[in-house]
Amino acid sequence: MKPLSKELLVRPGAKFNLSEFDPADTHGVDKETAISQLQKNLDRLCVLQYLLYAEAQRTVLVVLQGIDAAGKDGTIRHVMSGLNPQGVRVTPFKVPEGAETRHDYLWRVHNAVPEFGQMGIFNRSHYEDVLVVRVHNLVPKSVWSKRYDQINDFERMLTENRVHIVKFLLYIDKDEQARRFRERLEDKTKRWKFSPADLKEREYWDDYMAAYEDVLHKCSTANAPWYVIPANKKWFRNLAVSQILCGEMEAMKMKYPKPLADLSAIKFE
Ligand code: AMP
Ligand code: MG
Repeated sequence: MKPLSKELLVRPGAKFNLSEFDPADTHGVDKETAISQLQKNLDRLCVLQYLLYAEAQRTVLVVLQGIDAAGKDGTIRHVMSGLNPQGVRVTPFKVPEGAETRHDYLWRVHNAVPEFGQMGIFNRSHYEDVLVVRVHNLVPKSVWSKRYDQINDFERMLTENRVHIVKFLLYIDKDEQARRFRERLEDKTKRWKFSPADLKEREYWDDYMAAYEDVLHKCSTANAPWYVIPANKKWFRNLAVSQILCGEMEAMKMKYPKPLADLSAIKFE
């Protein structure tokens, strides 16, 4: 079996057809194996985050995108839960408000990139500015169509300045979204998550898929790749995200800083 990081990577410049992508795919892994492997990955992630924090030279930025109910919150809860909160900054991106509306669209995004040594997790991101904004014509096409290049430039600037970016699209199909909405309505502990606006957005499903396909085609780059995660099965989603993130962080070859003191010279009374 090829590693998931190879299977799920969107090759730079490739055309990506979401309708041909199976969101229930589990790449030959069964649930039991996935759950035990997930635990191992979470342990690895913990060590890698500690190393990132200790080194304090680079930032890891995880971008999570997906349609409503795709599992962005669940992924953060399950995959990032073992991390040291002191080294993690989660930023949810909502409809711009206040000062955000009085700046360019990347202003709030750049502001949310954490300092070196930290992990940043974006729950939605600047990609909303070519997704919801495009689907609902919130700005004219002449404006949003230029943003793919702007986003690539912005991400390149970050990666050239020690920000390691990993982007995940959590992909569920329309039936799975309906199932999750129904579950939200039936379960009184989940009802609060349901918004009538989510049903309205569902009517734009095809437009969203076309917008996602353009994002994948135009903005998966060697430095800031997109991975498309089959997310119908939450256990597979968690496995895939944790595995790919571990691989990306291992490839950074981080090192503990040299001790500040000359250890041989230290003597305790
Ligand atoms: P949620 O993630 O469910 O809390 O919802 C946040 C909402 O904010 C979603 O409907 C997003 O599409 C919307 N949103 C995020 N960023 C933007 C943006 N730049 N412009 C317009 N809407 C946005
Ligand atoms: Mg929502």
